Amino acid sequence: VHNARLAKIHRTYSVVEIAELLGTHRNTVRVWLKAGLQPLDGRKPILVHGEELRRFLTTRRNAKRHSCAPGQMYCFRCRAPKYPAGSMADYQPQTPELGNLAGLCPDCEGFMYRRVNANRIRESTGDLEVMFPQDHLRIGKP
Ligand SMILES: [Zn+2]
Repeated sequence: VHNARLAKIHRTYSVVEIAELLGTHRNTVRVWLKAGLQPLDGRKPILVHGEELRRFLTTRRNAKRHSCAPGQMYCFRCRAPKYPAGSMADYQPQTPELGNLAGLCPDCEGFMYRRVNANRIRESTGDLEVMFPQDHLRIGKP
C-alpha cells in the first residue's frame, strides 16, 4: 500500500521521482498513468502534480477497501462500482485459482476488471452471465 501523504501537494513529480518517493517501480507508475493518474497537459517528460498523485492513490485505496457487491466491478474511469453492461462478464483465468472478471462499464464503455478466486467465483459474480474461455471455444466450433 502506497502512502498518499508522501506526495507534497504544491509540487510536481516526474515518473522517476514518483517511483522513488513511493518505493515502487517506474513501470508501476506508468500503469497508474494508464489507469487514470492524470499528468499535466502537454509536458514531456511527463509531470504529475502532487495533489493529483494523492487523489489517485487515495481513490485506489478506497476502491480496494470498499469491495464491490456481488456482480459489480470497479470502473476506474467513473471511479465507482458498476454492474457491467448487459449483466455479462468474461472470466480470464490467470492461474488455476485466480483470474479476472472483465466487463464493460455501462456509462463510459471502458473495461472494468475484478479479481476473483476461481473456487469462489459465484460469490463475486452474483447474477451475472459469465463466459469462460471454453465457452468461446465452443461457440467458435461448427
Ligand atoms: Zn465507467
